[in-house]
Amino acid sequence: MNPTPNNQTLAQRDLAVLWHPCTQMKDHENLPMIPIKSGQGVWLEDFDGKRYLDAISSWWVNLFGHANPAINAALKDQLDTLEHVIFAGFTHETGIHLAEQLVAVTPAGLERCFFADNGSAAVEVALKMSFHYWRNSGQTQKTKFITLENSYHGETLGALAVGNVALYKETYAPLLMEVITVPGPDCYFREAGESWADYSSRRFALLEVTLQQHADNVCAVIVEPLVQCAGGMRMYDPVYLSLLRAACDRYGVHLIADEIAVGFGRTGTLFACEQADISPDFLCLSKGLTGGYLPLSAVLTTDKVYQAFYADYSKLMAFLHSHSYTGNALACRAALATLEIFRQQDVIGQNRQRIADLARVTARFNDHPQVAEVRQTGMIVAIELVKNKVTREPFPWQERRGLRVYQYALTKGVLLRPLGNVIYFMPPYVITAAELELLAEVAWQGIAYAIKG
Ligand SMILES: *Cc1c(COP(=O)(O)O)cnc(C)c1O
Repeated sequence: MNPTPNNQTLAQRDLAVLWHPCTQMKDHENLPMIPIKSGQGVWLEDFDGKRYLDAISSWWVNLFGHANPAINAALKDQLDTLEHVIFAGFTHETGIHLAEQLVAVTPAGLERCFFADNGSAAVEVALKMSFHYWRNSGQTQKTKFITLENSYHGETLGALAVGNVALYKETYAPLLMEVITVPGPDCYFREAGESWADYSSRRFALLEVTLQQHADNVCAVIVEPLVQCAGGMRMYDPVYLSLLRAACDRYGVHLIADEIAVGFGRTGTLFACEQADISPDFLCLSKGLTGGYLPLSAVLTTDKVYQAFYADYSKLMAFLHSHSYTGNALACRAALATLEIFRQQDVIGQNRQRIADLARVTARFNDHPQVAEVRQTGMIVAIELVKNKVTREPFPWQERRGLRVYQYALTKGVLLRPLGNVIYFMPPYVITAAELELLAEVAWQGIAYAIKG
Protein backbone atom coordinates (compact mmCIF):
# COMPACT_ATOMS: atom_id res chain seq x y z
CA MET A 1 0.00 0.00 0.00
CA ASN A 2 1.01 3.63 -0.30
CA PRO A 3 2.98 5.00 2.65
CA THR A 4 1.46 7.64 4.93
CA PRO A 5 1.21 10.62 2.62
CA ASN A 6 3.58 13.50 3.09
CA ASN A 7 4.62 16.28 0.71
CA GLN A 8 7.44 14.31 -0.80
CA THR A 9 5.66 11.01 -1.42
CA LEU A 10 2.62 12.77 -2.87
CA ALA A 11 4.75 14.98 -5.10
CA GLN A 12 6.48 11.86 -6.42
CA ARG A 13 3.21 10.09 -7.15
CA ASP A 14 1.82 13.24 -8.73
CA LEU A 15 4.76 13.77 -11.05
CA ALA A 16 4.58 10.14 -12.14
CA VAL A 17 1.03 10.41 -13.53
CA LEU A 18 -0.21 13.97 -13.69
CA TRP A 19 0.11 16.77 -16.23
CA HIS A 20 -0.70 20.15 -14.69
CA PRO A 21 -2.35 23.20 -16.27
CA CYS A 22 -0.30 26.10 -17.60
CA THR A 23 2.92 24.41 -16.50
CA GLN A 24 6.22 23.41 -18.06
CA MET A 25 6.39 20.12 -16.17
CA LYS A 26 10.19 20.08 -16.34
CA ASP A 27 10.19 23.07 -13.96
CA HIS A 28 9.25 20.58 -11.27
CA GLU A 29 12.69 19.05 -11.42
CA ASN A 30 13.58 22.08 -9.29
CA LEU A 31 10.28 23.50 -8.07
CA PRO A 32 8.51 21.48 -5.41
CA MET A 33 4.96 20.37 -6.22
CA ILE A 34 2.93 21.26 -3.15
CA PRO A 35 0.19 18.84 -2.14
CA ILE A 36 -2.56 20.60 -0.21
CA LYS A 37 -4.30 18.64 2.51
CA SER A 38 -6.87 21.15 3.65
CA GLY A 39 -8.06 24.72 3.43
CA GLN A 40 -9.59 27.04 6.00
CA GLY A 41 -10.50 30.65 5.26
CA VAL A 42 -7.60 32.30 3.44
CA TRP A 43 -5.20 29.54 4.54
CA LEU A 44 -4.10 26.35 2.82
CA GLU A 45 -2.20 23.59 4.62
CA ASP A 46 0.12 21.05 3.01
CA PHE A 47 0.85 17.47 4.05
CA ASP A 48 3.87 18.50 6.13
CA GLY A 49 1.75 20.93 8.14
CA LYS A 50 3.03 24.10 6.47
CA ARG A 51 0.47 26.84 5.87
CA TYR A 52 0.10 29.22 2.92
CA LEU A 53 -1.90 32.42 2.66
CA ASP A 54 -3.92 32.15 -0.55
CA ALA A 55 -3.27 35.66 -1.91
CA ILE A 56 -4.63 34.85 -5.36
CA SER A 57 -7.88 33.17 -4.35
CA SER A 58 -6.76 29.87 -5.91
CA TRP A 59 -6.64 31.32 -9.43
CA TRP A 60 -9.22 34.06 -8.78
CA VAL A 61 -12.11 31.76 -7.89
CA ASN A 62 -12.40 31.85 -4.12
CA LEU A 63 -14.43 34.68 -2.57
CA PHE A 64 -15.33 33.76 1.01
CA GLY A 65 -12.54 31.46 2.06
CA HIS A 66 -11.88 27.74 1.83
CA ALA A 67 -14.26 25.47 3.74
CA ASN A 68 -16.77 28.28 4.10
CA PRO A 69 -19.35 27.05 6.62
CA ALA A 70 -22.40 28.46 4.79
CA ILE A 71 -21.43 27.08 1.40
CA ASN A 72 -20.43 23.73 2.94
CA ALA A 73 -23.81 23.40 4.63
CA ALA A 74 -25.71 24.26 1.45
CA LEU A 75 -23.73 21.72 -0.55
CA LYS A 76 -24.26 18.95 1.99
CA ASP A 77 -27.99 19.59 1.83
CA GLN A 78 -27.98 19.62 -1.96
CA LEU A 79 -25.99 16.39 -2.04
CA ASP A 80 -28.70 14.56 -0.14
CA THR A 81 -31.38 15.96 -2.45
CA LEU A 82 -30.17 16.03 -6.04
CA GLU A 83 -26.63 15.95 -7.39
CA HIS A 84 -27.35 16.35 -11.10
CA VAL A 85 -29.98 15.79 -13.73
CA ILE A 86 -30.08 16.25 -17.50
CA PHE A 87 -30.88 19.92 -18.11
CA ALA A 88 -32.68 19.51 -21.45
CA GLY A 89 -36.35 18.73 -20.98
CA PHE A 90 -35.73 18.63 -17.22
CA THR A 91 -34.97 21.31 -14.69
CA HIS A 92 -34.54 21.73 -10.94
CA GLU A 93 -35.45 24.32 -8.34
CA THR A 94 -31.83 25.16 -7.53
CA GLY A 95 -31.07 26.03 -11.15
CA ILE A 96 -34.27 28.04 -11.54
CA HIS A 97 -33.59 29.93 -8.32
CA LEU A 98 -30.03 30.70 -9.40
CA ALA A 99 -31.14 31.97 -12.82
CA GLU A 100 -33.73 34.21 -11.10
CA GLN A 101 -31.07 35.57 -8.76
CA LEU A 102 -28.56 36.19 -11.55
CA VAL A 103 -31.14 38.02 -13.63
CA ALA A 104 -31.96 40.10 -10.55
CA VAL A 105 -28.41 41.09 -9.60
CA THR A 106 -26.86 41.63 -13.04
CA PRO A 107 -27.27 44.91 -14.98
CA ALA A 108 -30.76 45.78 -16.24
CA GLY A 109 -31.83 44.24 -19.52
CA LEU A 110 -30.15 40.87 -18.97
CA GLU A 111 -33.15 38.59 -18.64
CA ARG A 112 -32.05 35.14 -19.79
CA CYS A 113 -29.50 32.80 -18.29
CA PHE A 114 -27.71 30.00 -20.18
CA PHE A 115 -25.49 27.71 -18.09
CA ALA A 116 -22.19 26.12 -19.07
CA ASP A 117 -19.48 24.60 -16.92
CA ASN A 118 -16.36 26.78 -17.18
CA GLY A 119 -15.30 30.23 -18.27
CA SER A 120 -14.02 29.32 -21.71
CA ALA A 121 -17.24 27.48 -22.44
CA ALA A 122 -19.21 30.61 -21.49
CA VAL A 123 -17.14 32.64 -23.94
CA GLU A 124 -17.80 30.07 -26.67
CA VAL A 125 -21.52 30.27 -25.90
CA ALA A 126 -21.56 34.07 -26.11
CA LEU A 127 -19.63 34.08 -29.41
CA LYS A 128 -21.89 31.45 -30.95
CA MET A 129 -25.07 33.10 -29.67
CA SER A 130 -24.06 36.48 -31.05
CA PHE A 131 -23.15 35.08 -34.47
CA HIS A 132 -26.32 32.98 -34.50
CA TYR A 133 -28.48 35.94 -33.49
CA TRP A 134 -27.35 37.89 -36.54
CA ARG A 135 -27.82 34.84 -38.77
CA ASN A 136 -31.33 34.28 -37.46
CA SER A 137 -31.98 37.97 -38.12
CA GLY A 138 -30.93 37.63 -41.76
CA GLN A 139 -27.55 39.33 -41.30
CA THR A 140 -25.42 36.44 -42.50
CA GLN A 141 -22.57 38.74 -43.49
CA LYS A 142 -21.80 39.29 -39.80
CA THR A 143 -19.12 36.72 -39.00
CA LYS A 144 -16.29 38.60 -37.29
CA PHE A 145 -15.40 39.57 -33.75
CA ILE A 146 -13.46 42.56 -32.48
CA THR A 147 -11.14 42.05 -29.55
CA LEU A 148 -8.70 44.24 -27.65
CA GLU A 149 -4.96 43.98 -27.53
CA ASN A 150 -3.73 42.10 -24.43
CA SER A 151 -7.12 40.53 -23.73
CA TYR A 152 -7.73 37.02 -22.41
CA HIS A 153 -10.91 34.98 -22.72
CA GLY A 154 -9.87 31.38 -22.09
CA GLU A 155 -8.06 28.49 -23.75
CA THR A 156 -10.51 26.61 -25.97
CA LEU A 157 -10.03 27.40 -29.64
CA GLY A 158 -12.80 29.99 -29.99
CA ALA A 159 -11.95 31.68 -26.70
CA LEU A 160 -8.24 31.60 -27.54
CA ALA A 161 -8.95 33.16 -30.93
CA VAL A 162 -10.60 36.21 -29.35
CA GLY A 163 -7.79 36.50 -26.79
CA ASN A 164 -4.54 38.30 -27.42
CA VAL A 165 -1.88 37.01 -25.01
CA ALA A 166 0.87 35.81 -27.35
CA LEU A 167 2.32 33.31 -24.88
CA TYR A 168 -0.89 31.29 -24.90
CA LYS A 169 -2.04 31.99 -28.43
CA GLU A 170 0.83 32.04 -30.90
CA THR A 171 1.53 28.31 -30.99
CA TYR A 172 -2.03 27.56 -32.01
CA ALA A 173 -2.42 30.40 -34.51
CA PRO A 174 -3.02 28.09 -37.51
CA LEU A 175 -6.04 26.60 -35.72
CA LEU A 176 -7.75 29.84 -34.80
CA MET A 177 -10.46 31.88 -36.49
CA GLU A 178 -9.42 35.30 -37.67
CA VAL A 179 -10.43 38.20 -35.48
CA ILE A 180 -10.02 41.95 -35.64
CA THR A 181 -7.66 43.10 -32.91
CA VAL A 182 -7.64 46.75 -31.92
CA PRO A 183 -5.26 48.74 -29.67
CA GLY A 184 -6.37 48.44 -26.06
CA PRO A 185 -7.10 50.96 -23.29
CA ASP A 186 -4.36 49.67 -20.92
CA CYS A 187 -3.47 52.74 -18.83
CA TYR A 188 0.05 51.51 -18.10
CA PHE A 189 0.92 53.22 -21.38
CA ARG A 190 -0.64 56.61 -20.66
CA GLU A 191 1.54 59.71 -20.89
CA ALA A 192 3.07 61.12 -17.72
CA GLY A 193 0.42 63.24 -16.03
CA GLU A 194 -2.40 61.92 -18.21
CA SER A 195 -5.46 60.66 -16.34
CA TRP A 196 -6.82 57.13 -16.80
CA ALA A 197 -10.03 58.65 -18.15
CA ASP A 198 -8.25 60.80 -20.72
CA TYR A 199 -6.07 57.95 -21.92
CA SER A 200 -8.96 55.46 -22.07
CA SER A 201 -11.09 57.93 -24.07
CA ARG A 202 -8.22 58.63 -26.43
CA ARG A 203 -7.67 54.94 -27.01
CA PHE A 204 -11.35 54.37 -27.61
CA ALA A 205 -11.12 56.51 -30.75
CA LEU A 206 -8.98 53.75 -32.31
CA LEU A 207 -11.69 51.16 -31.71
CA GLU A 208 -14.28 53.51 -33.12
CA VAL A 209 -12.35 53.76 -36.39
CA THR A 210 -12.36 49.97 -36.68
CA LEU A 211 -16.09 49.84 -35.99
CA GLN A 212 -16.67 52.43 -38.69
CA GLN A 213 -14.80 50.29 -41.21
CA HIS A 214 -15.97 46.82 -40.27
CA ALA A 215 -19.29 47.04 -38.40
CA ASP A 216 -21.23 45.46 -41.28
CA ASN A 217 -19.26 42.25 -40.84
CA VAL A 218 -18.89 42.31 -37.08
CA CYS A 219 -21.06 40.30 -34.69
CA ALA A 220 -19.66 41.64 -31.41
CA VAL A 221 -16.90 43.37 -29.52
CA ILE A 222 -15.65 41.30 -26.60
CA VAL A 223 -13.99 42.94 -23.58
CA GLU A 224 -12.84 42.25 -20.04
CA PRO A 225 -14.41 45.17 -18.19
CA LEU A 226 -11.91 47.39 -16.29
CA VAL A 227 -9.14 44.85 -15.69
CA GLN A 228 -7.30 42.65 -18.21
CA CYS A 229 -6.39 40.08 -15.63
CA ALA A 230 -4.40 37.34 -17.39
CA GLY A 231 -2.77 40.07 -19.49
CA GLY A 232 -0.93 41.28 -16.39
CA MET A 233 -3.69 42.94 -14.35
CA ARG A 234 -3.70 45.88 -16.72
CA MET A 235 -6.43 48.41 -15.94
CA TYR A 236 -8.47 51.14 -17.57
CA ASP A 237 -11.14 53.70 -16.88
CA PRO A 238 -14.90 52.97 -16.93
CA VAL A 239 -15.37 55.75 -19.50
CA TYR A 240 -14.04 53.31 -22.10
CA LEU A 241 -16.98 50.99 -21.44
CA SER A 242 -19.50 53.84 -21.65
CA LEU A 243 -18.09 54.93 -25.00
CA LEU A 244 -17.99 51.32 -26.20
CA ARG A 245 -21.61 50.64 -25.25
CA ALA A 246 -22.78 53.74 -27.11
CA ALA A 247 -20.69 52.89 -30.18
CA CYS A 248 -21.91 49.28 -30.30
CA ASP A 249 -25.47 50.63 -30.35
CA ARG A 250 -24.62 53.16 -33.05
CA TYR A 251 -22.97 50.59 -35.30
CA GLY A 252 -25.34 47.68 -34.65
CA VAL A 253 -22.82 45.39 -32.99
CA HIS A 254 -23.18 43.31 -29.81
CA LEU A 255 -21.15 43.96 -26.70
CA ILE A 256 -19.88 40.85 -24.87
CA ALA A 257 -18.66 41.61 -21.34
CA ASP A 258 -16.39 38.86 -20.05
CA GLU A 259 -16.68 39.33 -16.28
CA ILE A 260 -15.43 35.83 -15.60
CA ALA A 261 -12.54 37.17 -13.51
CA VAL A 262 -13.80 40.62 -12.48
CA GLY A 263 -17.39 39.74 -11.61
CA PHE A 264 -18.72 39.26 -8.08
CA GLY A 265 -17.09 42.22 -6.41
CA ARG A 266 -13.47 42.07 -7.54
CA THR A 267 -13.50 45.62 -8.94
CA GLY A 268 -15.37 47.08 -5.96
CA THR A 269 -18.85 46.80 -7.43
CA LEU A 270 -20.73 43.53 -7.85
CA PHE A 271 -20.08 43.74 -11.59
CA ALA A 272 -17.48 45.95 -13.27
CA CYS A 273 -20.03 47.15 -15.87
CA GLU A 274 -21.89 48.95 -13.08
CA GLN A 275 -19.06 51.48 -12.83
CA ALA A 276 -19.82 52.61 -16.38
CA ASP A 277 -23.54 52.26 -15.81
CA ILE A 278 -23.86 50.02 -18.86
CA SER A 279 -25.47 46.73 -19.70
CA PRO A 280 -23.84 44.40 -22.24
CA ASP A 281 -25.73 42.18 -24.68
CA PHE A 282 -23.94 39.17 -23.23
CA LEU A 283 -22.42 38.86 -19.78
CA CYS A 284 -20.08 35.90 -19.14
CA LEU A 285 -19.70 34.76 -15.53
CA SER A 286 -17.73 31.96 -13.89
CA LYS A 287 -14.82 31.75 -11.40
CA GLY A 288 -16.30 33.49 -8.31
CA LEU A 289 -19.81 32.44 -9.32
CA THR A 290 -19.66 29.37 -7.04
CA GLY A 291 -17.45 31.05 -4.43
CA GLY A 292 -14.57 28.98 -5.78
CA TYR A 293 -16.18 25.61 -5.04
CA LEU A 294 -17.31 24.01 -8.29
CA PRO A 295 -17.03 24.57 -12.01
CA LEU A 296 -19.99 26.51 -13.37
CA SER A 297 -20.48 29.38 -15.78
CA ALA A 298 -23.39 31.42 -17.03
CA VAL A 299 -24.10 33.65 -19.99
CA LEU A 300 -26.74 36.29 -19.35
CA THR A 301 -28.40 37.90 -22.33
CA THR A 302 -31.34 40.04 -23.36
CA ASP A 303 -34.88 39.10 -24.25
CA LYS A 304 -34.22 40.51 -27.71
CA VAL A 305 -31.51 37.94 -28.33
CA TYR A 306 -33.63 35.17 -26.87
CA GLN A 307 -36.58 36.04 -29.09
CA ALA A 308 -34.45 35.75 -32.24
CA PHE A 309 -34.09 32.02 -31.53
CA TYR A 310 -37.71 31.43 -30.49
CA ALA A 311 -39.55 29.85 -33.43
CA ASP A 312 -41.13 26.64 -34.68
CA TYR A 313 -38.62 23.81 -34.56
CA SER A 314 -38.78 23.31 -38.32
CA LYS A 315 -37.33 26.81 -38.85
CA LEU A 316 -34.09 25.42 -37.36
CA MET A 317 -33.35 28.57 -35.41
CA ALA A 318 -32.71 27.02 -32.00
CA PHE A 319 -29.44 27.30 -30.10
CA LEU A 320 -28.41 23.65 -30.22
CA HIS A 321 -25.43 23.97 -27.90
CA SER A 322 -25.02 21.77 -24.84
CA HIS A 323 -22.61 20.51 -22.22
CA SER A 324 -23.30 17.29 -20.31
CA TYR A 325 -23.02 19.04 -16.97
CA THR A 326 -25.12 22.07 -17.92
CA GLY A 327 -26.89 23.41 -14.85
CA ASN A 328 -25.23 20.95 -12.45
CA ALA A 329 -27.31 21.12 -9.29
CA LEU A 330 -24.40 21.01 -6.84
CA ALA A 331 -22.59 23.82 -8.64
CA CYS A 332 -25.81 25.87 -8.82
CA ARG A 333 -26.32 25.39 -5.11
CA ALA A 334 -22.80 26.59 -4.32
CA ALA A 335 -23.55 29.67 -6.44
CA LEU A 336 -26.82 30.31 -4.63
CA ALA A 337 -25.07 30.04 -1.26
CA THR A 338 -22.44 32.50 -2.54
CA LEU A 339 -25.07 35.03 -3.64
CA GLU A 340 -26.77 34.58 -0.28
CA ILE A 341 -23.57 35.71 1.46
CA PHE A 342 -23.47 38.81 -0.74
CA ARG A 343 -27.03 39.61 0.25
CA GLN A 344 -26.79 38.92 3.95
CA GLN A 345 -23.45 40.54 4.70
CA ASP A 346 -23.25 43.69 2.54
CA VAL A 347 -20.01 42.33 1.12
CA ILE A 348 -19.57 45.19 -1.34
CA GLY A 349 -19.91 47.72 1.50
CA GLN A 350 -17.55 45.83 3.80
CA ASN A 351 -14.98 45.43 1.05
CA ARG A 352 -14.53 49.22 0.92
CA GLN A 353 -12.42 48.95 4.07
CA ARG A 354 -10.39 46.10 2.57
CA ILE A 355 -9.87 48.09 -0.62
CA ALA A 356 -8.51 50.97 1.47
CA ASP A 357 -6.31 48.53 3.43
CA LEU A 358 -4.95 47.08 0.18
CA ALA A 359 -4.04 50.58 -0.99
CA ARG A 360 -2.40 51.38 2.34
CA VAL A 361 -0.23 48.25 2.58
CA THR A 362 0.98 48.54 -1.02
CA ALA A 363 1.61 52.32 -1.05
CA ARG A 364 5.31 51.92 -0.21
CA PHE A 365 5.92 49.93 -3.39
CA ASN A 366 5.39 53.14 -5.40
CA ASP A 367 8.83 54.40 -4.39
CA HIS A 368 10.59 51.09 -4.93
CA PRO A 369 13.43 51.51 -7.44
CA GLN A 370 12.38 48.41 -9.36
CA VAL A 371 8.66 49.13 -9.47
CA ALA A 372 7.25 51.03 -12.44
CA GLU A 373 3.71 51.22 -11.17
CA VAL A 374 1.35 50.12 -8.42
CA ARG A 375 -2.20 50.02 -9.73
CA GLN A 376 -5.47 49.09 -8.11
CA THR A 377 -9.03 48.52 -9.12
CA GLY A 378 -11.13 47.51 -6.14
CA MET A 379 -9.90 44.25 -4.63
CA ILE A 380 -7.15 43.80 -7.23
CA VAL A 381 -3.70 45.35 -6.75
CA ALA A 382 -0.77 44.86 -9.14
CA ILE A 383 2.89 45.77 -8.76
CA GLU A 384 4.80 46.08 -12.03
CA LEU A 385 8.41 44.96 -11.56
CA VAL A 386 10.86 46.46 -14.08
CA LYS A 387 14.57 46.55 -14.70
CA ASN A 388 14.59 50.35 -15.08
CA LYS A 389 12.05 52.51 -13.27
CA VAL A 390 12.64 55.55 -15.49
CA THR A 391 12.57 53.93 -18.93
CA ARG A 392 10.30 51.10 -17.77
CA GLU A 393 12.56 48.64 -19.52
CA PRO A 394 11.31 45.25 -18.36
CA PHE A 395 13.47 42.48 -16.98
CA PRO A 396 14.10 39.98 -19.79
CA TRP A 397 11.34 37.36 -19.46
CA GLN A 398 13.91 34.56 -19.55
CA GLU A 399 15.18 35.69 -16.14
CA ARG A 400 11.85 34.75 -14.59
CA ARG A 401 12.04 37.27 -11.77
CA GLY A 402 8.38 36.79 -10.92
CA LEU A 403 8.99 33.10 -10.40
CA ARG A 404 11.63 33.97 -7.83
CA VAL A 405 9.08 36.07 -5.96
CA TYR A 406 6.78 33.05 -6.04
CA GLN A 407 9.49 30.77 -4.66
CA TYR A 408 10.50 33.20 -1.94
CA ALA A 409 6.89 33.79 -0.86
CA LEU A 410 6.28 30.06 -0.52
CA THR A 411 9.11 29.77 1.98
CA LYS A 412 7.34 32.48 4.00
CA GLY A 413 3.94 30.82 3.79
CA VAL A 414 2.35 32.98 1.11
CA LEU A 415 0.92 31.83 -2.20
CA LEU A 416 1.63 34.56 -4.76
CA ARG A 417 1.70 33.62 -8.41
CA PRO A 418 3.03 36.55 -10.42
CA LEU A 419 2.03 36.95 -14.07
CA GLY A 420 5.46 37.32 -15.62
CA ASN A 421 6.95 40.22 -13.67
CA VAL A 422 3.63 41.51 -12.36
CA ILE A 423 3.07 40.69 -8.72
CA TYR A 424 -0.54 40.99 -7.74
CA PHE A 425 -2.89 40.45 -4.84
CA MET A 426 -6.41 39.19 -5.49
CA PRO A 427 -7.29 37.73 -2.10
CA PRO A 428 -10.50 36.17 -0.81
CA TYR A 429 -12.76 38.79 0.77
CA VAL A 430 -12.38 37.25 4.24
CA ILE A 431 -8.74 38.38 4.50
CA THR A 432 -7.92 40.52 7.56
CA ALA A 433 -5.93 43.75 7.69
CA ALA A 434 -3.12 41.92 9.52
CA GLU A 435 -3.00 39.27 6.79
CA LEU A 436 -2.81 42.00 4.16
CA GLU A 437 0.17 43.51 6.03
CA LEU A 438 1.84 40.10 6.01
CA LEU A 439 1.17 39.73 2.31
CA ALA A 440 2.74 43.10 1.50
CA GLU A 441 5.76 42.43 3.71
CA VAL A 442 6.42 39.05 2.08
CA ALA A 443 6.00 40.56 -1.40
CA TRP A 444 8.45 43.33 -0.44
CA GLN A 445 11.05 40.80 0.72
CA GLY A 446 10.31 38.58 -2.28
CA ILE A 447 11.05 41.45 -4.64
CA ALA A 448 14.33 42.14 -2.83
CA TYR A 449 15.23 38.48 -3.31
CA ALA A 450 14.12 38.42 -6.96
CA ILE A 451 16.05 41.46 -8.12
CA LYS A 452 19.40 40.37 -6.67
CA GLY A 453 21.91 39.43 -9.34
C1 LIG B 1 -10.20 32.61 -16.47
C2 LIG B 1 -10.82 33.41 -17.52
C3 LIG B 1 -11.51 32.80 -18.58
C4 LIG B 1 -11.55 31.31 -18.77
O1 LIG B 1 -12.20 30.64 -17.73
P1 LIG B 1 -11.85 29.08 -17.51
O2 LIG B 1 -12.84 28.64 -16.50
O3 LIG B 1 -10.43 29.04 -17.00
O4 LIG B 1 -12.00 28.41 -18.81
C5 LIG B 1 -12.13 33.61 -19.50
N1 LIG B 1 -12.09 34.95 -19.39
C6 LIG B 1 -11.44 35.58 -18.39
C7 LIG B 1 -11.47 37.06 -18.32
C8 LIG B 1 -10.76 34.83 -17.43
O5 LIG B 1 -10.06 35.45 -16.48
